[in-house]
Amino acid sequence: MTEKLYFSNSYLKEFKSTVVETGTLDEKPALVLDKTAFYPTSGGQMHDTGQIQGVRVVDVQLVDNKIWHVLEKPVTGTQIHAKVDWARRFDFMQQHTAFHILAQSFQQVLEIKTLSSHLGEEFSSIDIDSEKVPASDLDSVEKLANDVIWQNRSVRTYFVDGKNKGGLVLRDQPQVLSGPVRCVEIEDFDLDPCGGTHVRYTGEVGLLKILSREKVRGYERFFFVAGGRALRDFQSYYTILKDISNTLTTGFDDLCTSVQRLIDAGIEQAKTLVKLSKMLEEPLLTDIFADMKNKSVVSKLIPGFHMDALQRLARTAIKTVQGTLLLASPSPNPCLVFTTSNPGMDLRPVLKQVLPLIDGRGGGDAGFVQGGGKNAAGVEKALKEAEKLVRGE
Ligand SMILES: [Zn+2]
Repeated sequence: MTEKLYFSNSYLKEFKSTVVETGTLDEKPALVLDKTAFYPTSGGQMHDTGQIQGVRVVDVQLVDNKIWHVLEKPVTGTQIHAKVDWARRFDFMQQHTAFHILAQSFQQVLEIKTLSSHLGEEFSSIDIDSEKVPASDLDSVEKLANDVIWQNRSVRTYFVDGKNKGGLVLRDQPQVLSGPVRCVEIEDFDLDPCGGTHVRYTGEVGLLKILSREKVRGYERFFFVAGGRALRDFQSYYTILKDISNTLTTGFDDLCTSVQRLIDAGIEQAKTLVKLSKMLEEPLLTDIFADMKNKSVVSKLIPGFHMDALQRLARTAIKTVQGTLLLASPSPNPCLVFTTSNPGMDLRPVLKQVLPLIDGRGGGDAGFVQGGGKNAAGVEKALKEAEKLVRGE
């Protein structure tokens, strides 16, 4: 059995050890040590990374009660020096301790039990036995959790007997029912069986913030960040808010109202635009009808029309007059819409051939095709090429 150095000292960053077994895991060299400070993925906490003899430790797994250190390449010799990636480990210690604090906060504020947890590389989550926690109660949970962090309470770990648990009342039942059970105690607040790594004082967690919630069958999942992650998020959100605030020349407090006003104005403008384009479409349709009566192939460049407006024009025209109609617009977005009433004509190969000219993509059926692209400068040429192809030139 490997001695778990992280049990007695989760702050141990470097250590010397002896290799007791070598093998392969996930097609990579792996080894078992007589003692280790590397935490293997278990109990909802992710594995450490680091170095053994300068070689990168990419994964640490618990297999059949053995802690396997998975390496980037083999390490020679039996006496080794190892180093745990401290930034990653301390981050997990912050998230893990935050989880204990949050679980007990849910219990104290709402008398809701924690079902499970997941401490990931980006987000951590806690599943609680509740269908819907009111938002105001959630604020109270978050407030209590942060109070406990700022009270800088001690976090101690010790072993008790699995059977009688040393007469202690634990928040959760230990998975091991006989033999020693490791307990994590947050001074006068929480006591829980746990084999993970934690900070020494709650103050080291810094800050805890619940970010979002998700309904899972019969229970609720809350995503949270703590410590360095909370700072990282605050910095990133603050930068985003500041940018939006500068763009809209509005203070943070008025941002929501300003954005709503913009959205409402956008909706109104879109409605007006539809009305105006319909007014513009009428004389265009009259022109197209007249042209199509005289020519079997009509092509028209109509700048300023969106693809849906061109499609509307083409559909209306082809319902009324016989022939082939090729429409194109370079702005606001380069687009092409071709249609024909000739059942023997397939416009798909025509579109396929001219689409590269506008750096575009598109499709449709034999009698009606459309495509949009990025190159406005090629629209006129694409239209001329399409006309040549349709005429069989
Ligand atoms: Zn824990």
